[in-house]
Order: sequence, then structure tokens, then C-alpha cells
Amino acid sequence: MYLYNSASRKKELFVPNHPDIVKMYTCGPTVYHYAHIGNLRSYIMEDVLEKYLRWLGYPVKRVMNITDVGHLTSDADEGEDKMLKGARREHKTVMEIAEFYTDAFFEDCRKLNIKRPDVVEPATNCIDDYIRIITKLMDTGYAYFAGGNVYFDTSKLDRYYVFNDFNADDLDVGVREGVEEDPNKRNKNDFVLWFTKSKFEDQALKWDSPWGVGYPGWHIECSGISMKHLGEDLDIHCGGIDNAFPHHTNEIAQSESYLGHKWCNWWMHVLHLNTSSGKMSKSSGEFLTVSLLEQKGYDPLAYRFFCLQSHYRKSLVFTWENLDNAQQAYQKLIARIAGLNPSDGPVDEAVLSEGKEKFQAAMDNDLNSSLAVTALYDALKAKTNDATRLAMITDFDRVLSLSLIEKAEEKRQELKRQESAKAAAAGSGFSILCESEAVDQERIAAIEEKILARRDAKKAKDFAEADRIREELKAEGIELTDIPGGVRWKVLA
Ligand code: AMP
Ligand code: ZN
Repeated sequence: MYLYNSASRKKELFVPNHPDIVKMYTCGPTVYHYAHIGNLRSYIMEDVLEKYLRWLGYPVKRVMNITDVGHLTSDADEGEDKMLKGARREHKTVMEIAEFYTDAFFEDCRKLNIKRPDVVEPATNCIDDYIRIITKLMDTGYAYFAGGNVYFDTSKLDRYYVFNDFNADDLDVGVREGVEEDPNKRNKNDFVLWFTKSKFEDQALKWDSPWGVGYPGWHIECSGISMKHLGEDLDIHCGGIDNAFPHHTNEIAQSESYLGHKWCNWWMHVLHLNTSSGKMSKSSGEFLTVSLLEQKGYDPLAYRFFCLQSHYRKSLVFTWENLDNAQQAYQKLIARIAGLNPSDGPVDEAVLSEGKEKFQAAMDNDLNSSLAVTALYDALKAKTNDATRLAMITDFDRVLSLSLIEKAEEKRQELKRQESAKAAAAGSGFSILCESEAVDQERIAAIEEKILARRDAKKAKDFAEADRIREELKAEGIELTDIPGGVRWKVLA
């Protein structure tokens, strides 16, 4: 597989450090709020990477942190503590906030078919690991103590800006409006490894350390957690593009200074999901969640499908119209799969492997998921039997994770139910007449199902339920008229 490496700015042939394991690390959520669907775009595409590695036959160990301490409102250690801000907003403790939003995050992941990483580690679990790293950085002169905090000294490195050839003067990350520059820093991009109480009196969680009671900076947690579970080297480190600087840059600085050798080979960054008004972020602008999509009637997997249709290294614009299109395409895809006959003959192995090659060629080219989706449509059109088509779809869905086979089965069952209800109605002499033209088959079936449910409610003398169904259909623009021995319906103009 060729995978783009942000550190070399090239697609490179992926070769893991060890033949028996691919070590993968993902920056996890800061659990002070719900994840928005922008955050989840990153996790979906990272999930695709992990599953594709497994599809290729690599054993993968994937580790993710949960940021429950140390992340300030600016990624460059300035401003308020995000967790404290969340706790204050909801009148809860920091740990309550962390637990609630960690659960909410994994619930969103479940709905989006994002696999839980093999190891999920809250930052507050690994304080000793950070202290060990910081102690060595102090001993070897990479870190200094000033004004109550321990800082990493970026001037000690020959090359600090690994992801971009930034000019230090152009970088204004830590100096946003309303945020005072930290006078303790020797260099503009030095960052905090350990805060002590001298600076943040209201910090809820504090631990003893050689430098005083305090808490770790945000960047050190990912180095500490990765080394704890994956050792001294890493194959792939992932995150959204905003993590590249300063977060990942700082992770590399402290990890390699601590280890004395190269740490991570590949850096995979997912570009942002934007709305028409700019980047989706937790602190500003439009904030869309998975629950909101569900409330509006979208299947969360239609959002996954939407993400898969574009490349992870291109920013993606979210509009409701785009999501509508994705949902329609996703439902059509499921309906087509539902129409396949799984037992129409043996699987044609030659056609199956040809299909797999097409899928692999797409994914091998820096995870071209939109071409992989095209390979899926090609499988549906392939000159072969349905059993072979289904074998291809099942195989590709191990990576795409759109629940295609399960949803198609649900659809088949639903159609069966509708058909048998219709047959039963016909047998009992109940007729349903449609006065409107050009209503698609699927909609007709759904309307008829409700009309029959209303008939059954009336039979059982549950008139409230019968009225409720009539109102529900009315809200959908369908008007019913009772006629002798049945119902006539039409779409209201
Ligand atoms: P956070 O919970 O803020 O630490 O972010 C979790 C992940 O989401 C990180 O990998 C971020 O880089 C990523 N992320 C943040 N905003 C977006 C966005 N609008 N689109 C895609 N990924 C994002
Ligand atoms: Zn991280």
C-alpha cells in the first residue's frame, strides 16, 4: 500500500517496522463536549485505514488516548482548561464530564461502525509515564523550569517544524487575540510539559511531581500513552490536520529527544469537514452531532457513506443537500443489494478475485475510498451471478463498514412483511386504491403498510391509534378516504 506521509510530504510504500505487528496510534477526543461530525470524519477515515491494514492481513495494535486533562482552549497551551470549562458549563465535576462524554463518543462511534481501538487510555491514567519522560528531558537539558511550569526547549532541536517549512515568525498559534503570551517561554514555540498550581489555581485534578503539585500538558499524554502500550517505535500516527501543528510537532520533539532516535514513521492527517461558514469546531460555528442527524431522519451510516465518497486528504464541505444525496444513494445501494439472490449458484472465484484486485488497487493508492466505492458499484454490475456479487460486497464491506449485508437483509424482511400484509388484505377483501400517479414503489409499500396497520387498529377498536396513523400520513402529505371495503388515498398537492 502507498500511504501519504505528512512528514515527507510524499506517498510512500507502507512497510511496517515489525513483521508481526503494525503499531498504530490515534489522537482521541477531548471529552468536554460531544464529538461533532467533523471530528468523526477523522475517526471514520482512521477506522478505514485500520480495517484496510487488517484486510491486507497485517495484525494491527491500535491505541487511542482520551484527553481528560491538560488541553487548554488554545492548542498552544494558552487560555482556559477545556475540561474545566465543560465542568463549569454543566455544573458537574471534571471526572463526571469526562465519563459522560467518553461514553457519548463511543456511542457515536458504534453508530458509525467505527471499531473501538484495541487500547483506549484516559490521559489521567498515565501520570507516572509523563513524569518519567519529563524527568529525563530535564536531566538531558531539553526541558527547563520557569515560573512554576516545565517547558520543552525547542531551540535545542535542529529541526522542529517537521510538517511544514514554517517560518517561526509566521506562526501565531499561541498568540491569539485575548490570549497573553507566556513570558516564561524562552522561545515562542516552547510548550508546557508540566503545569503547577502556581499558574492554574482552579485546576481540579492535580498530582505530585518533582516540580510541584500540578498536571501534565496536553502534548505529553500522546507520547506517554503511545510508549506505554506500543514501546519505543510507532508505524502510523493519525489525527485531524489541525493536530499536525503544534500537537504532533511537539509530540515528535519530546518523544525523539527522550528516546534518542526516530519515533514514528508515518503521519496520517485527515483534512477537515467544513460548513459553508468555515471549519466545524467544538468552540465555534455550526456544531452538528450524530444525534442531530438521527433526529432529522438520517441514518448515521449515510454520513459514513458521505465521508467515504471523498478522499481523506481533501477538505470536505458539509451541506444538508450533500447529505440528502448520500442518504438517497446509500438507500438505493441497499435496495439493490436486497434484490440479489444469495443462492443462485456457486461463487465464481475468478470474478471475485478480479473484483478484489480493483478494490485493492483503489485502497493501495493512499486509501482512495471513493474509488473503492466505485469498485462496489462495479461489483453490482459485474457479469456474474448474484452469489459472486454478494461475495465481493461482503468482502469490501469489511473495510467500508456500511453494514450493507445486514441492512439489505432488513430491507428484504421489510418487503416480505409488506407483501404478506398486502396478500392478507387482498384475501380479506380489503382494497387499497391509489389516486395519485408517479409515486415510487417503495413509498407506496410504506403507505400501504400504514393503511393496513390503521385497518387493524380499527378492527381492534383502538380508534386513537387509527386516528394517529391517519394524522401521521397526513403529515407526510397523504390523505385517506374510507370507502366501502377499503381505503382510497392520494398525495396532497
Ligand atoms: P478534539 O476532540 O478537539 O481533540 O479533536 C478530535 C479529533 O478531531 C482530532 O483528530 C482533530 O484533529 C479532529 N478534528 C477537529 N475538527 C475537525 C474537523 N472540522 N474535521 C475533521 N476533523 C477534525
Ligand atoms: Zn495526540
